[in-house]
Amino acid sequence: MIQVAAVILTDENGRILICKRAQGASCAHLWEMPGGKLEPGETPEQAAVRECQEELGVQVVLGGVYAKTEYSYPDKTIEFTFFNGRIVSGEPEMRVHEEMAWVLPSQLKEYEFCPADVGLVQKLAADRQMERVQMPHTAAQLIRILHENGHEAWAVGGCVRDSLLGKNPTDWDLCTSAKPEEVKACFSGVYRVLDTGLKHGTVTVLADKEIYEITTFRQESDYADHRRPQQVQFVSSVEEDLARRDFTINAMTMDVDGTIVDPFGGQQDLQDGILRCVGEPAKRFEEDGLRILRLVRFAATLGFSVEESTKKAAMEKRHILRWVAAERSIKELNAMLCGGYAAPVVAEYGLVLACLMPQIEPALTHPYSEDKTLWEHAADTLSDAEQNPLVRWAMLLRDVGKPYCGEGYRGHAEVSAQIAQEILHGLKLDKAGRNTICQLIRFHGVRPARDAVNVRRWMQLLGPEQLEYLVQIWRADAKVRGDSEEDLQAFCKELERCKEQDCWTVNQLAVTGGNLLTEGLAQPGPSTSRLLEWLLHEVVEGRVENTRQALLEQARKWSE
Ligand code: ATP
Ligand code: MG
Repeated sequence: MIQVAAVILTDENGRILICKRAQGASCAHLWEMPGGKLEPGETPEQAAVRECQEELGVQVVLGGVYAKTEYSYPDKTIEFTFFNGRIVSGEPEMRVHEEMAWVLPSQLKEYEFCPADVGLVQKLAADRQMERVQMPHTAAQLIRILHENGHEAWAVGGCVRDSLLGKNPTDWDLCTSAKPEEVKACFSGVYRVLDTGLKHGTVTVLADKEIYEITTFRQESDYADHRRPQQVQFVSSVEEDLARRDFTINAMTMDVDGTIVDPFGGQQDLQDGILRCVGEPAKRFEEDGLRILRLVRFAATLGFSVEESTKKAAMEKRHILRWVAAERSIKELNAMLCGGYAAPVVAEYGLVLACLMPQIEPALTHPYSEDKTLWEHAADTLSDAEQNPLVRWAMLLRDVGKPYCGEGYRGHAEVSAQIAQEILHGLKLDKAGRNTICQLIRFHGVRPARDAVNVRRWMQLLGPEQLEYLVQIWRADAKVRGDSEEDLQAFCKELERCKEQDCWTVNQLAVTGGNLLTEGLAQPGPSTSRLLEWLLHEVVEGRVENTRQALLEQARKWSE
């Protein structure tokens, strides 16, 4: 009989999730997640990975399975501890039952539950660290060509960071000692070369259908408007180039053979999950306010903690954020909101975010419960929504109007929708996105009836995609209120049926404007579309079936 079981999973950042739970071997008992159960044909381990992914919205990899089993003999009881099905020595010490926590490999000792396991888990973590993503062939080829021409060249920045984290980098930026003209000379005739960023030392090379930016080692100075360096000086050493970069984890280079240049301890910070400025934080943020936003974004996406002096400076220098172009801000904010660790970061950095959207300020202090502000509560619920910026914005701003409303918060949804419109307009989010978010906020407090007519009305109003988003918000609010899931589940069931069988747009009607004209039921012009709209209304309300015959008959009534 297995009494204690644990599954060890690692996330995309190489951190480890230890899930421990007393009693029962199957993962249905391991997780306290809603609906936690084995799908047909699934092993408990596969279920754990799937459920963890669904619940946390992050990629997870199965690290190992840990279990404690008790065998009873007539005269005694013996406990065995297993790791990945093998017996390991040592008595598991289940200090904390029913615990689930992401930990960094370096923190494993604190989570010790069985001495023998710690070594195994650490090895597992180390093995994963080795699994860095290989440099793509073309990037390596470009570096080699620069080498052959007598220049230094490296992959640099985000791609090195992501590669060390075992994540596939989105793009591979290169840096080199070669001056831009020399870079061009190395590649012209071999690849297509664009010199759009030449002034700042960047040459763009189109190789094997990929775009590579190759930037000459440089220093920046005289930042104008806390954003743009006025002067760019080419320098000769890679270390000098790395010194201008924002965070230690972004200030590393990698050679084709995997050699790393890391003058600021980026690898250690990556291991420990720490975000730290290169150089003096206050000065670095003063130079370029965008770095403050990048900091918050990396915290929310990587789940790293922010080193104290970096955090302090970000708070102190937050007003510099208003110099950042809205187009840059919204990009960072969207990425931040969709981060797997957005909830605690958004809660903590409310004051920073308020520099970009002062309308949220009242929510930062408005009490929600004894120990939470309205803002903290909104941030908390972010992880209940999918990683889509539209839903997450709606989630975050849905109650932002409450402090502006009187007692009982009457009309707060509409007020919140208007504030959101204002905020997002200021941040230059596109109009379609803004409107979706505002609709979601406007209707977030509704408790929808589950009958077919009502579901079709919602479909007609919002369409399947937006309605799907709204359901997530309704679900999160139901969870907060402690309502049973039953009503919403029934609504969703009806929604699924409706999607398959029902009609909620004019295009889905069994008749077209052309049909109505040939039947002599409508005249050319806008009255035809009015008639179609009316027919749709009748179908949605369940008064007419969506068949050609029924609709033509109904149309006759309209003309009469
Ligand atoms: P992402 O995964 O979003 O691409 P990234 O770190 O690669 O993250 P990029 O904008 O592609 O971000 O920048 C590439 C590199 O340039 C960074 O890793 C960092 O070294 C440097 N960098 C980018 N923006 C700044 C900045 N505002 N200040 C200093 N260095 C920066
Ligand atoms: Mg990048």
